[in-house]
Amino acid sequence: QVTIDKIAAGEVIERPASVVKELAENAIDAGATSVTIEIKEGGISYIRIADNGCGIAREEVPSAFLRHSTSKIRSVDDLVHIGSLGFRGEALSSIAAVSQVELVTKTKADTFGTSYRIAGGKEESLDDAGAPDGTTFLIRQLFYNTPARRKFLKTPMTEASHVGELVTRLALSHPEISFQFINNGQSKIHTSGNGNLKDVIYHVYGREIAANLLAVDYERTGMKITGYLGKPLISRGNRNFENYFINGRYVKSNMIAKAIEDAYKDFTMQHKYPFVVLQMEIDGEHIDVNVHPTKMELRFNNQQDVYSSVYEAVDRGLHAEEL
Ligand code: ADP
Ligand code: MG
Repeated sequence: QVTIDKIAAGEVIERPASVVKELAENAIDAGATSVTIEIKEGGISYIRIADNGCGIAREEVPSAFLRHSTSKIRSVDDLVHIGSLGFRGEALSSIAAVSQVELVTKTKADTFGTSYRIAGGKEESLDDAGAPDGTTFLIRQLFYNTPARRKFLKTPMTEASHVGELVTRLALSHPEISFQFINNGQSKIHTSGNGNLKDVIYHVYGREIAANLLAVDYERTGMKITGYLGKPLISRGNRNFENYFINGRYVKSNMIAKAIEDAYKDFTMQHKYPFVVLQMEIDGEHIDVNVHPTKMELRFNNQQDVYSSVYEAVDRGLHAEEL
């Protein structure tokens, strides 16, 4: 089991940012309204993720670290209509296989919290603990027992910037949740969680971008697209500022990027990499979320439909300014 988990970990956990992604998504799934992410040394030696979500009941703590243990999926059908971010039950077992994990968690119903330690896939302790409602994970010494993986990590500064980008995307996709990111003791991001996407954009990208936005509000059968477009004058040098989320999930798609860029191109007569933040709600039947374990790439049943919807949404947003 430990060996299998170590191998599985290679698919899910590549670097500190993947640990943060999985644990932060669990916090979101747990209904948290506040999530704190703290790292030291790029997250290689230390990651702390604290949420005020539903917590994990004492008797479910050890089993949550078993491979394919998930409380979020009951049938294959659920996979298609998936609402939560996690669904494979691989994250905790994978993380615990390649690091030293300490967990403190408490549900509303439990009087005492639970503190649990597991390292290299081996359970070390399970105790009572005084704790607020919610869950805190401490992850220490990532890849301490898989030197080959550890060797592939970049400098702490680079790893920290991956975590920062991830927290930015989480904050953009969930304006209703307050995210704090602390790097080496310094608070880098702290969103209010007031639900206003424009406030999040202002906070993470600054005044110049926030002052030059056009709203998108588009709907057609099975698809809804809302968010903001940067005015063409604030285009950027690469695709890093094209943020789009499908059903709350940050994804990458050449097809969606092209739809966005094509709409800008037809509007400005120039190829640009625009700034956008788009939240897309697409009916579950149209997408296949089970393409890759890290869930970044989605497959669509009808590519053309999605392309034309995104194009149209952006095109209308850009033209709305002229009215
Ligand atoms: P998945 O998210 O795919 O279900 P994970 O391995 O990420 O699998 O988590 C296993 C289970 O542990 C989850 O299904 C959930 O029940 C529980 N869990 C993990 N993190 C949290 C959290 N922050 N708050 C509440 N429950 C959690
Ligand atoms: Mg998960």
